[in-house]
Amino acid sequence: MSTILISGANRGLGLEFARQYRQEGHRVIGTCRDPGKAGDLLALGAEVLPLDVADLAAVAGFGAVVGDQPVDLFINNAGVYGGRHSEQDLGEVDSRVWLETLVVNTIAPLKLTEAILPNLERAEAAKAVYLSSKMGSMAANSAGGAYIYRSSKAALNAVVRSLAADLADRAIVVAALHPGWVRTDMGGPDGDIDAGESIAGLRRVIAALATTDSGRFLAYDGGEVPW
Ligand code: NDP
Repeated sequence: MSTILISGANRGLGLEFARQYRQEGHRVIGTCRDPGKAGDLLALGAEVLPLDVADLAAVAGFGAVVGDQPVDLFINNAGVYGGRHSEQDLGEVDSRVWLETLVVNTIAPLKLTEAILPNLERAEAAKAVYLSSKMGSMAANSAGGAYIYRSSKAALNAVVRSLAADLADRAIVVAALHPGWVRTDMGGPDGDIDAGESIAGLRRVIAALATTDSGRFLAYDGGEVPW
């Protein structure tokens, strides 16, 4: 049994990660910014810790909340799109929304990792994975637009690469993950796959991660996503 810490675990992909890992018998600690929304997570038998990742002071103090227990797998899942799609078109981008999105999608993942680093170091072979997106890929961007979301995930990818290098000597494996286009609140009803299929695939990808895979950008089907 592993201890798995998932941010933003009250709905969408985070909740599905919690459901599938609980089904496998793992211990799941899910964070949720509004404890009033944690009903589904609690019903799975997960432990719930309140955390708004936009509150960087709370993120910095999160290590004290987790305590000194080992964390085998950290899934940085909490994320936002940053307003409606049309609000990310050229000429429509709101700088304030952009900054708020960078806090949640880019800065908080690093600061949360720093906060729980002692917990990852206490595990025997810890992994830290980050829900990125193909939308953050430079190479895959031929459609343009989505300035806020794309830049926040591209910057997250840079964070992941640096973490992979910096944590290599501590044997913590780090990866950026693309879940596919998934039918969640964020993905909308037209997505290619449902959350169950996405997370079943990502769990296989995570289970197969070896030290030599640290710093890779992998999709739910195991394929490499170009940077
Ligand atoms: P949802 O919008 O369905 O869920 C987002 C989750 O993040 C919710 O639990 C939400 O909590 C939480 N969250 C948002 N902001 C904060 C915050 N400030 N503090 C704490 N929690 C927060 O998104 P998905 O489940 O679809 O996406 C999960 C991850 O996967 C995201 O990082 C997303 O960018 C990525 N992704 C998703 C794709 C898709 O097609 N769905 C494609 C590619 C990547 P609350 O309920 O409180 O809002």
